Amino acid sequence: MNIDFNKANGLVPVIIQAEKSLQVLMMGYMNEDAYLKTLKEEKVTFFSRTKNRLWTKGETSGNFLWVKKIHIDCDNDALLIQVKQEGPTCHTGAVSCFCNDTSNGFLYRLEEIINQRIDENTKNSYTNELYQKGINKVAQKVGEEAVELIIEAKDNNDDLFKNEAADLLYHFLILLKSKNMGFQEIEKVLSQRL
Ligand code: AMP
Ligand code: ZN
Ligand code: ZN
Ligand code: ZN
Repeated sequence: MNIDFNKANGLVPVIIQAEKSLQVLMMGYMNEDAYLKTLKEEKVTFFSRTKNRLWTKGETSGNFLWVKKIHIDCDNDALLIQVKQEGPTCHTGAVSCFCNDTSNGFLYRLEEIINQRIDENTKNSYTNELYQKGINKVAQKVGEEAVELIIEAKDNNDDLFKNEAADLLYHFLILLKSKNMGFQEIEKVLSQRL
């Protein structure tokens, strides 16, 4: 691979992406030494501008990024590396370094609205009212919606099926909140299975 290390003080930007989900995990820089070490060890080593040295992602946490595929851009000055992650990539414990803003997918925006209704104890909110009834009631509701979805799965009405699927997902998020969990924790479990 003919990488142009002559621009930007010998540093090339590297985007790290999960090989299966294609989720963007983080961004870092490599100089030639970092790149060669990455090839040799098959796990990502950056050049850390803060530490001013080679930095193997995971060197203290054990959360390595195992190289699956390396792509170079059109003019040879940027890399996209697809990896299998061992543990969370971000030092905050998040799956991705780009996890902490709400532009991160519809499910997270919905989760945020649900949390808001509950945390602000919003009046006339179905979400809040259900939550206040306690976890048993919420869990029961999830069960009911699951059964309704099963029934619609056997029918031939796509509209009804979609609505029950939406009901289940929505109540599932309330149940997570009742368990003091966020969808991110479930995402982490799922992404470790990929
Ligand atoms: P690690 O490479 O995972 O062993 O982490 C070592 C140190 O690098 C951490 O204490 C953080 O300061 C930093 N670090 C780890 N992961 C990231 C990341 N995804 N982005 C920026 N800095 C990180
Ligand atoms: Zn380029
Ligand atoms: Zn991070
Ligand atoms: Zn329903």
